[in-house]
Amino acid sequence: MKNLRQELEQRQQQGLYRRRKLMQSPQGREIIIDGQSLLNFCSNDYLGLANHPEVKKAFIAAAQQYGVGSGAAHLVNGHCKLHQQLEEELADFCGYPRALLFSTGYMANLAVAQSLCGRGDSIIEDKLNHASLLDAAQLSGGKLVRYQHADYNSLQAQLENCRSNNANEILVSSDAVFSMDGDEANIKSMVQHCKQHDAWLMLDDAHGLGVLGDHGRGSLSHQVVTPQQVPIYMATLGKAMGTAGAFVAASEDLVEYLIQTARSYIYTTAMPAAIAAASIASLNILRENDSKQQALLHNIILFKRLAQQNQITLMPSDTAIQPILIGRADQTLQLSQQLFNKGFHIAAIRPPTVPKNTARLRITLRADHTEKDLKSLINTLSDLLQTI
Ligand SMILES: *Cc1c(COP(=O)(O)O)cnc(C)c1O
Repeated sequence: MKNLRQELEQRQQQGLYRRRKLMQSPQGREIIIDGQSLLNFCSNDYLGLANHPEVKKAFIAAAQQYGVGSGAAHLVNGHCKLHQQLEEELADFCGYPRALLFSTGYMANLAVAQSLCGRGDSIIEDKLNHASLLDAAQLSGGKLVRYQHADYNSLQAQLENCRSNNANEILVSSDAVFSMDGDEANIKSMVQHCKQHDAWLMLDDAHGLGVLGDHGRGSLSHQVVTPQQVPIYMATLGKAMGTAGAFVAASEDLVEYLIQTARSYIYTTAMPAAIAAASIASLNILRENDSKQQALLHNIILFKRLAQQNQITLMPSDTAIQPILIGRADQTLQLSQQLFNKGFHIAAIRPPTVPKNTARLRITLRADHTEKDLKSLINTLSDLLQTI
């Protein structure tokens, strides 16, 4: 048996030990951890919907009407009319014939790869894809092949390899907005290569839905690509939508096929109906107006300008994810702690979440951050970064 204590201590020495901080407040621009009030620069609740009055109201009303637990899997008797309504509204919002709900984004990603691919098939992924997409490929039984980050010549080469090795099905999947980097896949380029090689294309828009595109319709709208060009669109509800769960939007047949074959859909309890109701409320807020997207966009532009004025090097990102590359895990952790002491909560993202020697401060911006918040963060960062 392996020595767990020794392995844990080793992690601690390498600055790789992970600890959970105890939240004592809802998600928001300001949060309370360990009794300390902090400006929140690390949640994915970009629009502030996780604690929005309308979303909470819908959640509470649905809990009163339908209770808390859904009681069973969707295929048994856990599929409530609120789930059905949310699926229909999501499909309509994203421009697809159908959408299928999952309890988490992780499970949605497992579902697609496992349903479409098995032995003899290939799954081609961007090297910096989210862990759930990589795990999905590994669990599917298909062959996982990776291409250089956002390098579509490298994708093209891998597609050619797979075809010449007689791969049966080929699934190409990518984050649309890379979760730890904030940069974006070039969807048009992916569409073209996949079409040329008769491969399925799947995009994971966990950080695009609600944030990018017309009223937050996501990365396809933002990059002017039609849903017809991307056969599989997955997005989560726990980030900008402020609730929990995820969905896959696709054709009628693909959704029906997932319902028949996706193990992470079939063998799990449906999300609570009240979560579906809350998500419908979030969708209504997005459709009503785009003031939250505009406020977030304004903050992204301002933050980038302030960073540049203060010689702080950011990674190439135009999204709400604005990481600062530090490199060493221990230094990144130390910076995160120093920021904490000064009233800013920014997580240190370390390997294996990101590649070795690319530990970073992953700053995420919110629609409700003020100009003063951003200025005080930049000033603090500017001082602290000079000490390393
Ligand atoms: C968060 C995330 C997921 C997982 O979604 P959950 O609902 O949290 O399980 C999948 N893909 C990406 C790109 C993510 O950022």
